[in-house]
Amino acid sequence: MIYILIEHDLGKMNKTATQGLVLARELAQRTGGALVAVLIGAQGEAVVEPLQKYGLQKIVHITHPQLDDYAPDAWAESLVQLIGATNPDAVLAMGSERGNEVMARVGAKMNIPMAANCTVIQPGESYRVTRVRWGGSLLEEAFVDGSPKLLTIAQHTFEAEEMPAGTPEMETFSPTLTEKDFRVRVVKRIPPEGGISLTDARVVVGGGRGVGSKEGFATLEELAHLLGGAVGGSRVVTNLGWRPHTDQVGQTGARIAPELYIACGISGAVQHWVGCMGSKKILAINTDPEAPIVTKADYAVIGDLHVVIPAVCAELRKMKG
Ligand SMILES: Cc1cc2nc3c(=O)[nH]c(=O)nc-3n(C[C@H](O)[C@H](O)[C@H](O)COP(=O)(O)OP(=O)(O)OC[C@H]3O[C@@H](n4cnc5c(N)ncnc54)[C@H](O)[C@@H]3O)c2cc1C
Repeated sequence: MIYILIEHDLGKMNKTATQGLVLARELAQRTGGALVAVLIGAQGEAVVEPLQKYGLQKIVHITHPQLDDYAPDAWAESLVQLIGATNPDAVLAMGSERGNEVMARVGAKMNIPMAANCTVIQPGESYRVTRVRWGGSLLEEAFVDGSPKLLTIAQHTFEAEEMPAGTPEMETFSPTLTEKDFRVRVVKRIPPEGGISLTDARVVVGGGRGVGSKEGFATLEELAHLLGGAVGGSRVVTNLGWRPHTDQVGQTGARIAPELYIACGISGAVQHWVGCMGSKKILAINTDPEAPIVTKADYAVIGDLHVVIPAVCAELRKMKG
């Protein structure tokens, strides 16, 4: 039996939540086990229906009166108790911040290894996995032992594929949790500026050192607004205090996968690239034709962003009337 934790936030499925089902389904087929999705918290109810399209044999819904919002220890403890009661062969989750956080805790609680950010899983006595290391610049082959096998799946590696296969069986599981499982929990939610989060945005306008100042981001804000997108930035601009850390794209920031990423005055260092390489299309605006981002982008405008962006905004305003 293969479990896959399906991440949701207050009943809204994360954009990458179903990508891992591709690998989980393949693993279930190769091991001859059932594919079972695990949902945590009462609001998980909202994702039961959309999940029916993914060829699952069963959905286990973990509920508890205090599991109303994300709490990593409580999620991990719930999984540990479910594993103890049902003995699955492997437990998978997406290699998102939450997925890795929860699964690392499960590994620690059970004293078994956990392999993060896998792209290939070959079952056997030990599982042989290929996993993404060093922010995407290295692929590592590793063997994973332990029972069950604990794995997370690299985000943006697979396109979610629907595969209807009848209605999955529904089961609920009620763990025993105590106050100590809720020491880490969400206490307050601050909506992103402009209302669109970086990881959900269809268009992201990223700014780097080339923007020149905090005030320089006003034109990027306008462009993002006109395109219905969000503003992001490189680590340089968050270090300089021009943007909050929540806007940072990259190895130590957000991994984004918008339809379009417009990288303005960003060189495209590998630590930035790993955060934006999942974008469907990349447009670079840079004065340097040799900048790494320009050589990797789908489209590039070689020029001063302080000239190019206002001109693009003016055209967009005209188009919008
Ligand atoms: C452990 C570690 C983790 C890191 N994590 C991250 C991370 O998560 N995210 C991240 O971004 N970085 C990260 N970095 C930093 C990374 O290595 C780079 O230093 C950083 O991404 C560079 O930011 P930048 O592109 O804004 O600046 P620069 O590299 O200085 O590039 C500025 C670019 O702007 C262009 N430019 C200048 N003026 C203009 C103009 N007027 N118009 C158009 N173009 C112009 C230049 O040609 C240049 O290409 C990390 C580094 C380390 C060591």
